[in-house]
Amino acid sequence: MIYADIIVDISVDNLDKTYQFAVPKHLEEKAVVGALVKFPFGKANRIIKGYIISLSQTPKIDISYIKEISEVVDDALVMESHLIKLASWIREQYGATLNDALKVVLPVKQTVKMIEKRTICLQWSKEETENLLKEVQRKGYKARIRFLTVLLDKGQLDYEEAIHQYGITRPVIQAMEEQGVIRVEAKTLYRNPIKNKQEMQKPVTLTEKQQEIVNDFTKEYEEGKRRTYLLHGITGSGKTEVYMEMMDHVLKQGKQVILLIPEIALTYQTVMRFYKRFGDRISIMNSRLSKGERYDQYLRAKQGEIDIMIGPRSALFTPFEKLGLIIIDEEHEGSYKSEMPPKYHAREVAIYRASLLEASVILGSATPSLEAYKRAKDGEYKLYELKERVNQAALPKVYIVDLREELKKKNKSIFSEKLKELIQDRLDKKEQIMLFLNRRGFAGFVSCRSCGHVMKCPHCDVSLTYHTGRRADQLVCHYCGYEEPMPKKCPSCGSPYIATFGTGTQKVEEMVKKEFPSARVLRMDMDTTAGKDGHEKILSAFAKQEADILVGTQMIVKGHDFGNVSLVGILAADLSLYANDYRAAEKTFQLLTQAAGRAGRSKNNGEVVIQTYSPTNYSVTTAAVNDYVGFYEKEILFRTMMKYPPVSNILVAFLTSKNEQSVEQASELFKAAVLDYKQQECVRLEQAQENESISEDVIKEELEIIGPVKANVAKVNDIYRYVLYMKHMDYIYLRNLKNFMEGFIEYSKIFNGCSVQFDFNPMSSY
Ligand code: ADP
Ligand code: ZN
Ligand code: ZN
Repeated sequence: MIYADIIVDISVDNLDKTYQFAVPKHLEEKAVVGALVKFPFGKANRIIKGYIISLSQTPKIDISYIKEISEVVDDALVMESHLIKLASWIREQYGATLNDALKVVLPVKQTVKMIEKRTICLQWSKEETENLLKEVQRKGYKARIRFLTVLLDKGQLDYEEAIHQYGITRPVIQAMEEQGVIRVEAKTLYRNPIKNKQEMQKPVTLTEKQQEIVNDFTKEYEEGKRRTYLLHGITGSGKTEVYMEMMDHVLKQGKQVILLIPEIALTYQTVMRFYKRFGDRISIMNSRLSKGERYDQYLRAKQGEIDIMIGPRSALFTPFEKLGLIIIDEEHEGSYKSEMPPKYHAREVAIYRASLLEASVILGSATPSLEAYKRAKDGEYKLYELKERVNQAALPKVYIVDLREELKKKNKSIFSEKLKELIQDRLDKKEQIMLFLNRRGFAGFVSCRSCGHVMKCPHCDVSLTYHTGRRADQLVCHYCGYEEPMPKKCPSCGSPYIATFGTGTQKVEEMVKKEFPSARVLRMDMDTTAGKDGHEKILSAFAKQEADILVGTQMIVKGHDFGNVSLVGILAADLSLYANDYRAAEKTFQLLTQAAGRAGRSKNNGEVVIQTYSPTNYSVTTAAVNDYVGFYEKEILFRTMMKYPPVSNILVAFLTSKNEQSVEQASELFKAAVLDYKQQECVRLEQAQENESISEDVIKEELEIIGPVKANVAKVNDIYRYVLYMKHMDYIYLRNLKNFMEGFIEYSKIFNGCSVQFDFNPMSSY
């Protein structure tokens, strides 16, 4: 017998309110996950509807209490079914509980006070109303006279206006409504997160190359071809204009569009660009909206009031019934991968969702992920390229400065001679400068020069970061928020020579002020952008030229067009190169390219200074000449040699526990189980090969197991972290292994005080 878990009222808040029903034999085929079904409910056996969220062969309660489903509703192509199906796929593909997967796709229902607009509408004919007016005039009912006179004149009246402007009382309105003279119509006003009304703007005339791409896309779309495209276009090549044309085409076919943009690039400026083109059929999602506002957007989308949703990763689940296109801008961005289980990647989920709804997918980037570019080269995606900036705007001139040489010249400042010279030049010319540091507070750690003691967080296995300013002389943990005052003496040896090393953004800001006292400096990092709209404020101040120099972390390299910026300085390009992470070179290349792309967007004297200790590293040299393909070819060789994604696949099991011993034991046991699985699978595959067509490659390919080892950050918030890596060419092999391990974990007691998360092809190392 098959049992179905059914949810009646579908939303995140009701996930634990499921009911189990039996699936009668004749309905087994149709009763799939996501199906809308009818069943007898409660004592009275009232027939109601619900959705199947999972199927199993195990009854959860005594089977004598389990009733049968009475019907599977046929046209179950409803949005809820679609989303449940998507959740089920995500769970299978990435690993998580079903509830966690459903939470990703379903809205959080939030009953907020809806703003209502009430309108009083005249129901009677003109003649009837005039007769009534005469009658109330005879009786001397002043309010009613005023009321009927306006209504005769206008036909309808805003409720609030009737009360406040015309002094009609609520009982009068009620009485007239009961009499049938008028009707009060209430309409819910959804809060539109885009508040400013803007002038609409005519589209630009596309360049020949842009037009070619759009034409090819629209031709395929019209022919009914649905597939994934990769638009590789350098920064400023006009990708956004291309998206807008494609969207326009798809919208004209009566379809809807989801546009994903990383949250950090989802600025007012970006949103307005789309708004001016498409008007208020657009909505946006972002983390700054309240839950109520988000739920409103969900409803607006579901009811077909909007056609375009713009937002970060979570906007992918917008319940559009007529979804025709999903665009993922800056497709290489790490934020498209969820950090919480299920650790899904929006790119993959978008492609799957598009396949269910016959939609196409456009991935766009100046620096495509190795994954996407490889698939485009392999012919799985169609590749479009924009190799030039619009309006012949020249690419900036890039200088690579070898910091080792600077040291030889006895220049100990964080600015090389070249950068100093150019900063002064721009300050003189009243042009703007962006100075970019790879990571917030990186290496802002504090250590003792006598004994080498490093100040560490007592709850996490990381060094504390030194902060001045707002929180004067504090040491802060960036993992758990722990703070303590900067010590005057080394807590280990008592020496007074305890100080901060390296350069954080704060330090850079101080140095700039010291070196260029007349310059106005703005700093943008996690600390200065904490408040609501914090980073928007800083960016717009800089755009208004209220500062000459903007110092910041990666957040300053995204999405903003500053026409007056003609110099970009990258202070230490290497910092990200030495991260213990197989994507380190890729990330460095992306950051350098994006940062360089900020210079000279409208002026032709854009210059970029890349300061580095590894001037010959290929991710630096290729970024300097904007040579993506050159970078790709070197990097893919490295990945092939090392069997890293996208050439191979990695599954990470991340184990955590409050108790160090139990997490260590659990990870050893985990590994033993994986080895067992590998053994069984070998035997199974060899047997299967005799009658099935399993390729030699799959069988020969060995599962590689690395670890278990302590995670890079071995402790966070007093929770210990271990990690085990599994590598295999075949994703399906790893997915099956994950399924097997999920079952194993459930039945093995050792995992009780220990949690296990899975992550396929991680975005950074553990
Ligand atoms: P990308 O998204 O590739 O960085 P954008 O679409 O933002 O590039 O284009 C860069 C700038 O060039 C924008 O200001 C945009 O309005 C302008 N632009 C793009 N295409 C054209 C065009 N065909 N004609 C005129 N201006 C254009
Ligand atoms: Zn010391
Ligand atoms: Zn901490």
